[in-house]
Amino acid sequence: MRKGQLFVVSGPSGAGKGSICKRLVEKINIDLSISMTTRNPRPGDEHGKTYYFVTEEEFLKVKEDDGFLECAEVYGNYYGTPKELVLKSLNEGKDIILEIDIQGALKIRKSYPKGIFIFILPPSMAELRKRITGRGSESEDVINMRLGETLKEISYIDKYNYCVINGELEEAVNRVHAIIVAEHSRVSEDIYELIEKYKEEI
Ligand code: 5GP
Repeated sequence: MRKGQLFVVSGPSGAGKGSICKRLVEKINIDLSISMTTRNPRPGDEHGKTYYFVTEEEFLKVKEDDGFLECAEVYGNYYGTPKELVLKSLNEGKDIILEIDIQGALKIRKSYPKGIFIFILPPSMAELRKRITGRGSESEDVINMRLGETLKEISYIDKYNYCVINGELEEAVNRVHAIIVAEHSRVSEDIYELIEKYKEEI
């Protein structure tokens, strides 16, 4: 059976990775990995839907038990991708999308180079500031720290397969969808199996 494909969507905070992934799972048949985090829930967050919210102790226990595909400290909180659900989707032939930060994406690229890595860019730094400020949940200091990090993060873009600028959400979602469709058409091992079948049919 064809294995599912792993898509990693990452990029700077505020670029809109979350909105793109949320919209994408509404539109197409793809699983979304739910991360575990030690950060406090924000308004609109839902345990088991946006994240699994856990204590530091619980998080470290999962880490110790090798339960994460990758994990990282992002802005003072821990975040991790639970291994089990991702492997389950892939083994069942379902595609799965991970929305994670750049450190996490680089770790996955090493352990799972077959993944498809998509970098989301904001249309401008001014727009990025506006988006982070608009969330209203971060202090001015945190926002400045995040913007400072952004330029450093963008320098890792060459480690990615694709780049999508998120100006208008639906346009960006369509572009990520197009990438997924294109990846399904890539010449891969599955195709050789099909060609063998063709030979038998002659
Ligand atoms: P937020 O707290 O704003 O939801 O997320 C902060 C950052 O953590 C975002 O860049 C988000 O993509 C990233 N993030 C969320 N889940 C994970 C994860 O499982 N692993 C890693 N490495 N980063 C994550």
